Amino acid sequence: MNALNATELLEELEAEIGEGKPLEPLQPLVHDVLTLLGEDTGRDGLRDTPYRVAKALRELTCGYNQDPEEVLQSALFDVTYDEMVIVKDIEVFSLCEHHMLPFFGALHIAYIPNKKVIGLSKTARMVDIFARRLQIQERLTQQIAETIQRAINPAGVGVICEAQHLCMMMRGVEKQHSSTITSAMLGVFRDNPKTREEFLSLVGTGNRR
Ligand code: ZN
Repeated sequence: MNALNATELLEELEAEIGEGKPLEPLQPLVHDVLTLLGEDTGRDGLRDTPYRVAKALRELTCGYNQDPEEVLQSALFDVTYDEMVIVKDIEVFSLCEHHMLPFFGALHIAYIPNKKVIGLSKTARMVDIFARRLQIQERLTQQIAETIQRAINPAGVGVICEAQHLCMMMRGVEKQHSSTITSAMLGVFRDNPKTREEFLSLVGTGNRR
């Protein structure tokens, strides 16, 4: 194998993750964690693990360096349509801020436009930006709703997130099949039960709540 040496690896990585976030501080810390867990960090399978873990952590938290509002502003379209827009089943993967373990599931977004709609791919991209930070599901849901509200000032926004948390499934209470549902309702989705019900029935979570 024609392996890169450590310096080359770091240079390659820093180009990937951008300036101001040097990787060097993370690698020895991951190495220490492995040692404290009783692992032999010299064995084959673990030799590059500090590098890989550090790289994965950077990737999974890269949302700190990105601005979700800027992403939305880049794809707004004028419309006269004023019926509910729903984006269903957006996959979401995040890390819980309490254990730094993954939680994942589906997120549904609805809004009633007021002259503007958001490009579909940008909606999913905004979700990723918030998800790639240490999160709690409640805040992730709320931040997405508030960002849409600010970006296009719709008559209302509803966001529902249904996720499974590995910190619950793999440890502690070990409720392996439990999922957590959070929602954020703004404007008419908060004030008008009919609008909210329409959203809930269209995404199919209404009968579980
Ligand atoms: Zn957790």
